[in-house]
Amino acid sequence: MPAVITAKEVEDLIAKGGDPKSLPADAILTPSAKDAIRDYAHSRRGFASAGAASSAPAKPLNSKSPKAELEAYFNSPAAHALKEQLCDIGRRLWQREYVDGNGGNIAIRVGEDIAICTPTLVSKGFMKPEDMCLVDFEGNQLAGTKKRTSEILMHLQIMKQQPKAVATCHCHPPYSTGFAVAGVLPPTCMIPEFEVFASVAIAPYRTPGTPEMGKLVADLVDKHNTILMANHGVVSWSHNNVEDAYFKMEILEAYCRTILVTAQVGRPANTMTPGQLQDLLKIKQSLGIPDPRHGLKECELCDNDEWRPGVQCAVPARQEATVGYDSEAEAAVKTITDQILAQIK
Ligand SMILES: [Zn+2]
Repeated sequence: MPAVITAKEVEDLIAKGGDPKSLPADAILTPSAKDAIRDYAHSRRGFASAGAASSAPAKPLNSKSPKAELEAYFNSPAAHALKEQLCDIGRRLWQREYVDGNGGNIAIRVGEDIAICTPTLVSKGFMKPEDMCLVDFEGNQLAGTKKRTSEILMHLQIMKQQPKAVATCHCHPPYSTGFAVAGVLPPTCMIPEFEVFASVAIAPYRTPGTPEMGKLVADLVDKHNTILMANHGVVSWSHNNVEDAYFKMEILEAYCRTILVTAQVGRPANTMTPGQLQDLLKIKQSLGIPDPRHGLKECELCDNDEWRPGVQCAVPARQEATVGYDSEAEAAVKTITDQILAQIK
């Protein structure tokens, strides 16, 4: 028999330094116990982000700061923690096969116009903290022994254009890149994670690493956090941290993969109703994630082909078409089948 846990028990556990995660998995939580656990998780998150903020320089730095101060910060424990995060994200990109050869690059803003980024000519799966580079927003290297990535301009142009961008991540995940090569935006209204966390657009192809490429991407980051780069790959930015920028890649890549499987199942995909999508967009807005659909009315969400070329939205008038089968006919078949089976017995 599962235990029933009250808010008082949760509060007592926390007061003794315990973690609600240690409660039995099958425990039944009262609604107020759930609230107490949520409040606790929230306060922990606040604690964690305060920790992340301590990785920024104690005194705000910029590209004009004295070289000695920039060097001192770059060699500080705070900067080291960010370098380790870059190595960790690089490893995850490589393990998930989102990068190939020396491909992919990542950057974290650490001041008004400076960023720590990954080096060129190193596999993202095998970077060391000492490989990282400090650059200004023009791409000039300010510290670090290895040369900064050749694609840094794009990251910096995103950060210049989008003041909320604290981290950027670029890689070549195969399913998403497949859509980028075909020049097709993934259709929307199918999976909640994608709707809430990603906001995708396509930038036309230009030679990687050129200012033209960076500008075409930067032009889109006002309303989008994940940009498909035509015939190349994907770049994302986050207003939270570098892991969150990487999460956009996981979410987009899993989505594109799922869409391709859906296309092979042999039935038209069911899509969300405009009302269901609107609920997700409300969550997205509360999380501070941009989306060009914020503020649109439900009918406008469906009217706008730009969001979902080739996919019909589940507007009520088209419901029969999107449901994929006729429920009345299904019921009739079931009744007849039951009658036949009864006679056989
Ligand atoms: Zn690339």
